[in-house]
Amino acid sequence: MNLPELKGVPPDVLREQFREQGLPAYRADQIASWVYGRGIEDPEQMTDLPQELRERLNESWRFRSLDVLRADHSTDGTIKAALRADDAAVVEAVLIPEEDRTTLCVSTQVGCPLACSFCATGALGFGRNLRSAEIVDQLCRMAELLPEGRRITNVVFMGMGEPLLNLPQVIPAVRTLLHPKGFAMAPRRVTVSTAGVVPQIAPLLEAIPVNLAVSLHAATDEVRDVLVPLNKRFPLDVLLGTLRGLPRLSRRHPVFFEYTLIEGVNDSVEDARRLVRLLEGLPSKLNLIPMNEHGDSDYRPPAPEVASRFMGVLVRGGLTTTLRRSRGSDIDAACGQLAVRQLPEERPAGRKPAAPQAAPGRASSG
Ligand code: SAH
Repeated sequence: MNLPELKGVPPDVLREQFREQGLPAYRADQIASWVYGRGIEDPEQMTDLPQELRERLNESWRFRSLDVLRADHSTDGTIKAALRADDAAVVEAVLIPEEDRTTLCVSTQVGCPLACSFCATGALGFGRNLRSAEIVDQLCRMAELLPEGRRITNVVFMGMGEPLLNLPQVIPAVRTLLHPKGFAMAPRRVTVSTAGVVPQIAPLLEAIPVNLAVSLHAATDEVRDVLVPLNKRFPLDVLLGTLRGLPRLSRRHPVFFEYTLIEGVNDSVEDARRLVRLLEGLPSKLNLIPMNEHGDSDYRPPAPEVASRFMGVLVRGGLTTTLRRSRGSDIDAACGQLAVRQLPEERPAGRKPAAPQAAPGRASSG
């Protein structure tokens, strides 16, 4: 049964499609409200629709694209889930509950083609792009794992994969997140992160007014070439030049930078000073993330005092900087640890795991 996936169609496009089929557009809104507002995926339960339409929906759309294969709960409240698509591909999503918000970290690809040397997903290689419906379904499946009374307030595209290499599927998914009949999220509660796919940055921001995060990790091309091989195609001056040219940047709407601190690689005082010079005059916020260790890399985080010293140089240099507390590391849910540790018995019989396994039993991510 190869039916089109309802969650791949943003609510405004669904309206158009209904009109074209001679159906009232408000029926599309009703369906979107059931699916995204109330988490109902069975047309039979959409009680304000005529019976005939319910049957027609059942025959013409697929309402669900992912299933929860496994969910791990961290002692700090973080929940990581492995989600399986119908071709047995597995991706991971992470819920991070905080006092005033609940952030969901979503994946956009099975594996990742960028092969950043410190990232567990990079070690996996590339499986395939996720479809828009599979990106949206991560919100639906993960919302069901939250305790009563909690809802997803923020979404970060920082899971497995490079969102800017899958824009045709990422953009409609974000439209559904933002649409009033979709998840009705404010654009500033959605952040899309890129390792620096320069030609796709402007198209992303022209299509959807989300926050942009850039994985920087180094202040020289020499170091960044090693950590983020994509830097060889789009070096720092090209990347920073593009960011400086973006319209509508301001202190309220800065570029967010991620900088993974790795012992002896990018954590010196000199690195920090270079970073200050590199970002001078660019409205930005910098997140320092001490390297999360995993089996596919020998890199280590610096000692806490080295991280504090690094941060001190940035703050004195005028950069808005946070040192991120790692969440969910006891369940391998922290940045760069998303590893689809799929046990043989969890695989459907006779099917190979979708993504190449880097080490025995490990796949991975952001
Ligand atoms: N491909 C996109 C989306 C992934 S975001 C991007 O690179 O921005 C995931 C973030 O976690 C990126 O900033 C990535 O560089 C960072 N990360 C990857 N592995 C990590 C690790 N082991 N420790 C800390 N951060 C890591």
